[in-house]
Amino acid sequence: MATNDCIFCKIVKGEIPNQTVLEDENFLAFNDINPARKIHVLVIPKEHYDSFDVIPPKIMGNMTAFIQKVASKLGIKEDGYRLITNIGQHGGQEVPHLHFHILAGEYAGRLTGEQLK
Ligand code: 5GP
Ligand code: ZN
Repeated sequence: MATNDCIFCKIVKGEIPNQTVLEDENFLAFNDINPARKIHVLVIPKEHYDSFDVIPPKIMGNMTAFIQKVASKLGIKEDGYRLITNIGQHGGQEVPHLHFHILAGEYAGRLTGEQLK
C-alpha cells in the first residue's frame, strides 16, 4: 500500500500526534489510542513494512533490542507482559504497518479473548 495513506507513517512524520514512550533513529514506541490493558504500547519501525511477515530478520533483531528497552522503561520486566503482533486478515491486523503490542500492568488474560466458532 502507499505509505502516504498509512496512519502509522503519519505518526512517524508527526502528522498525527502520539504519546511517545521511547524513540530512536529507527523505532518508535507510543501509547495505543484505545488501550486494551492498563499499559498498552505499540512499537513500530519508522520505515514502513506491511507486517512481521516481511520485515528483514536483521532489522527484526534491532527491533527486538528496542522492544526490550521499552519494557525496561515501562518497568514491566519483573511482573511480565504480553507481546503480540497481528499479521494479515486472519491474524486480525487492522493497521497494515508492522507493530508490536505490549500489554502490561495487569494480567493479560488467556491467549485469545474471542471464542472460535
Ligand atoms: P491491529 O489490530 O492492527 O493489530 O492494532 C492496531 C492498533 O492501533 C489498535 O490497538 C488501535 O487502537 C491502534 N490505533 C489505531 N489508530 C491509532 C492512532 O491513530 N493512534 C494510536 N496511538 N493508536 C492507534
Ligand atoms: Zn506505514
